[in-house]
Amino acid sequence: MSAAYPHLMEPLDLGFTTLANRVLMGSMHTGLEDRFYHVDKLAAYFAERARGGVGLMVTGGYSPNRRGELLPLGSRMSTRFNAWLHRRVTEPVHEAGGRIALQLLHAGRYGYTPYNVSASAVQSPITPFKPKALSERGVRRTIDAYARSAELARFAGYDGVEIMGSEGYLINQFLAPRTNKRDDRWGGSAENRMRFPIEVVRAVRRAVGRDFIVVYRISLMDLVEEGQSWEEVVDLARALEAEGVTLFNTGIGWHEARIPTIVTSVPRGAFTFATAALRKAVSVPVCASNRINTPELAESLIAGGEADMVSLARPMLADAHFVAKAAAGRSEEINTCIACNQACLDHTFQLKRASCLVNPRACHETELSYEPAVTPKSIAVVGAGPAGMAAATVAAERGHRVTLFEADAQIGGQFNMAKRIPGKSDFEETLRYYRTMLDKHGVTLKLGQRVGVDALGGFDEVIVATGVTPRTPAIPGVDHDKVLSYVEVLRGEKAVGRSVAIIGAGGIGFDVSEYLVHAEGVDEREQWYREWGVDTALRHRAAMVEPQVAPSPRQVYLLQRKETRPGKDLGKTTGWVHRTELRKKGVEMIPGVTYRRIDDDGLHIQVDGEDRVLAVDHVVICAGQESLRSLAEELRRNGRQVHLIGGADVAAELDAKRAINQGARLAAAL
Ligand code: FAD
Ligand code: NAP
Ligand code: SF4
Repeated sequence: MSAAYPHLMEPLDLGFTTLANRVLMGSMHTGLEDRFYHVDKLAAYFAERARGGVGLMVTGGYSPNRRGELLPLGSRMSTRFNAWLHRRVTEPVHEAGGRIALQLLHAGRYGYTPYNVSASAVQSPITPFKPKALSERGVRRTIDAYARSAELARFAGYDGVEIMGSEGYLINQFLAPRTNKRDDRWGGSAENRMRFPIEVVRAVRRAVGRDFIVVYRISLMDLVEEGQSWEEVVDLARALEAEGVTLFNTGIGWHEARIPTIVTSVPRGAFTFATAALRKAVSVPVCASNRINTPELAESLIAGGEADMVSLARPMLADAHFVAKAAAGRSEEINTCIACNQACLDHTFQLKRASCLVNPRACHETELSYEPAVTPKSIAVVGAGPAGMAAATVAAERGHRVTLFEADAQIGGQFNMAKRIPGKSDFEETLRYYRTMLDKHGVTLKLGQRVGVDALGGFDEVIVATGVTPRTPAIPGVDHDKVLSYVEVLRGEKAVGRSVAIIGAGGIGFDVSEYLVHAEGVDEREQWYREWGVDTALRHRAAMVEPQVAPSPRQVYLLQRKETRPGKDLGKTTGWVHRTELRKKGVEMIPGVTYRRIDDDGLHIQVDGEDRVLAVDHVVICAGQESLRSLAEELRRNGRQVHLIGGADVAAELDAKRAINQGARLAAAL
């Protein structure tokens, strides 16, 4: 057992079987589940995480029948052929010493199909298809389909199933008055509404026998109007325990909830108070979830009696070896999930294969590997932003001799500004990870050196990762004292007044707005609960109360030239959070702006043909960036071959996902 995290690494006795430790890899739809020809990629993805030491893994969701599919022809477990194919997943997992459960997920009205069904014909706000209400016969058949799927999962070699009873899918749709308008024995009273999950668990347990793990993922807080009350959640849990649930995993919020539950700005372990409350009400183990991304937090939750297990989902994309590193006392080597959703959930919603911003190998294990280099070379990397750090560490891990030059006194590039944005402090974890890896793999780090061509002779390969420089728009008066760059603001080089106009409403314009409207000197965690209206006392239905917003210390205007809705191009799963936060703080977002000039009176603009003067103290420029490529051009003029990566390569639509991916892939190929 590990001395570093003794509670986290303690085996968990489930009666008929014992899990190696307290870490459950939560279910994630990666996009590899839907097509049979991806089965070996899926197997490699899970086997790597089994080798990484996680106690129990849960697959992405598989529907028990066609009507429960998330998408047309989406993942399903309903035939012997499906089950037989899954042995190609379960066998390598078991060979690697892992345990794996199949998640049974009936999407109900969240099914993006014209043939979806639900408790009642109530359309969801996030899908275009109105569901058909299940008939009595349909309900019965659905319960039977769950049982059959569970039986097939056992035949496929799984160690258990997880019944998905949270995030607003079919089971929730039966449980909540919001979506269950039935007046038969499946609707109306709380007792009737919980009949469906109880019968599902009963049928599943009967189908699989006593010695098979049945996890039930219970929705602790629905976070939608007319969701369940806490008393109903507890009554349900007790009834399900009596039906033979082995352990409870937990879920927070429906997909349509307008309270964020997993993005970076959600405080770490924000909802574990509810797990602790459930744990007091049942006697089977309870697993905490949502925004648990470090072994320290996981250990403290178990040691403090808030949970028996922790569910880490995205952190297992970020680092397949999270558990093994923690167990070995090497937690500083863990590549921490920063909860950005950029390469995982956002991809899933765009029907793209999931991966991870900080770990491009995630879900690409068979295609991207960091094998030892056949011929070790000497490599210079210029610029220690995300692109340069990724290239340097992967190249050094493969056995190349790497020197990393950085003009600044610290590594990190723009991440040093990103981590100052309220809610983005986790970005510092990425810098800690790279610091550790540079050291571990013996990279020679030269800080405070803005290198030119002369310093780069004698290397076999030169990688230029010099990043970007902020764009200065050609607006009359742009050199006025009122004008600041986002770099000056975020580095704290210039004080900012009480009224501010921000030119440019891209990712950085939004982040700078959040920085400027943030109220200092408050308890951040309590403030977050208050601002989003989360009832931590669990007294109100669905755990929702009236939000209380702390006033912004500044009046902020966020401007763009495009006519489209500001923030439209932000991440699919995170953009709404940023837009809502700024709206609550009274930020005036103005599209369709023509910039006239900046002078002592403020910023002169024209909108809808009308002239307007924003009488602001400061104008902050967030108008995108341009590649910093002068070094690469000079090297090329000197006849040197260079590899350009990150912002130095292409500045448009640059983000850290592209920068790290490009750096890692180049280094894997050298
Ligand atoms: P950079 O990070 O710009 O790094 C380039 C480095 O090269 C710098 O450290 C620079 O000092 C160094 N350098 C330049 N010239 C030389 C030289 N001649 N010699 C030595 N060193 C040199 N992206 C996301 O994906 N998600 C986010 O949520 C996100 N939030 C952000 C928030 C803010 C406030 C900011 C500013 C950026 C954010 N980004 C985000 C963007 C992300 O940080 C960039 O896309 C990423 O940093 C680009 O990486 P890079 O390595 O190409 O360049
Ligand atoms: P950006 O997203 O390209 O936005 C630049 C903004 O400046 C746009 O709103 C643009 O809108 C405006 N603009 C461009 N040229 C202009 C000009 N000449 N004059 C006036 N306005 C101009 O770039 P960014 O905000 O600098 O962000 C850089 C990258 O970092 C982004 O690609 C983003 O992905 C990444 N990032 C991501 C996040 C995140 O949360 N995921 C956060 C921060 C940054 P108009 O042209 O319509 O005026
Ligand atoms: Fe975490 Fe971002 Fe990676 Fe998703 S893409 S696993 S949120 S770091």
